[in-house]
Amino acid sequence: MKFKPADQLQDLQHFGEFGGVNPSISDSSTYTFLSAKKMFDTFEGDAEGCYLYSRHSSPSNLYLGEALAAMEGTEAANVAASGMGAITPVLLQLCRAGEHIVSSRTIYGGTYAFLKNFAPRFNINTSFVDITDLEKVEASITDKTKVIYCESVSNPLLEVADIPALSKMAKKHGLKLIVDNTFSPLALSPAPMGADVVIHSLTKFINGSSDTVGGVACGTQEFIDELRSVNDGASMLLGPTMDSFRAASILKNLRTLHIRIRQHSHNALFLAEKFQDDGLRTVYPGLKNHPGHELYKSMMNEGFGFGGMLVVDAGSLEKANKAMELMQHKNLGYLAVSLGFYKTLFSAPGTSTSSEIPEEEQKEMGLSDGIIRFSIGLDNDIERTYETMKSCMKEVGIL
Ligand code: PLP
Repeated sequence: MKFKPADQLQDLQHFGEFGGVNPSISDSSTYTFLSAKKMFDTFEGDAEGCYLYSRHSSPSNLYLGEALAAMEGTEAANVAASGMGAITPVLLQLCRAGEHIVSSRTIYGGTYAFLKNFAPRFNINTSFVDITDLEKVEASITDKTKVIYCESVSNPLLEVADIPALSKMAKKHGLKLIVDNTFSPLALSPAPMGADVVIHSLTKFINGSSDTVGGVACGTQEFIDELRSVNDGASMLLGPTMDSFRAASILKNLRTLHIRIRQHSHNALFLAEKFQDDGLRTVYPGLKNHPGHELYKSMMNEGFGFGGMLVVDAGSLEKANKAMELMQHKNLGYLAVSLGFYKTLFSAPGTSTSSEIPEEEQKEMGLSDGIIRFSIGLDNDIERTYETMKSCMKEVGIL
């Protein structure tokens, strides 16, 4: 049976106090108990339905976590104050000193910096590999490896990871497969394809209004309980807790995600095809000549397209910068990092979100200077947008 993430999400409803159509917001950091025994039992994890302290869990955070788990098809989820606040505890929970991670080399710059520069302080070391080369991935696994880490569609180069094959490999070697699905919510569902943990930066498409940072890790109930353990849970002890008000507002935005993703994908495919026809080097998984096109098609859920992220090569950083400034001037979008906003956002990843990656390595992975990463917005008339974008590209000599 096909996995239907949007329907799973839609079917989940909690009501508020007084019959509110949205669940009530829990506005407390701590909770009272009618008996000392109940408090003790809660501490020990034996009192179902009781809350202790909001760094551990709160009703609003659990509502959002439950919705995201339903969307990803996992038993449970733990929300966090940011995407990095979800990623780093998951990795630290799964790996101890002396252990090893095999990671895609094209990942978000912050995750790359954590693995490359920070995790080695704890003697957790990472081999960065071309995730599309399964032989290389397998060859990098050692007897110390615990985790294979990748993004379903990678930042910023939009490489597509073969999640079923990576999951098979992980199982064969007794490893956990962690997939950051930030670029492709609803369109791809890594957990039903075998991923052990699915992560999102909620900051992006899921929240969709560029007004907050947030993150989530989705996995088995056992793993989520481990993350939250008061004794040795990385999420509980490192403390990247989401605020209840934010959890409530993200849950409300999540309700329209299916409509937004369709429009982001529709607009991005339209522009990708036009730019490619105009002769620009264009990277978009929906284009037939994208190396991951067929793979993406084989994994995608029906109706959500190939996502809102699109990469165009302007030829040089100077031209890319000029084009972005002009597009902003013409109100086509904003020169800004991040993604998933109603308005198009653009940046040159080599000098922004991937600047943590050394220049030499950027070259090796095909991240050239003139690349513009677009998060395509929800524009009503994308043809009109295209005409104005094209005039900008012409004016700065890209076309
Ligand atoms: N994962 C991906 C793919 C991202 O693009 C980002 C941020 O840009 C993150 C994780 C980190 O998320 P946050 O900024 O919410 O901590």
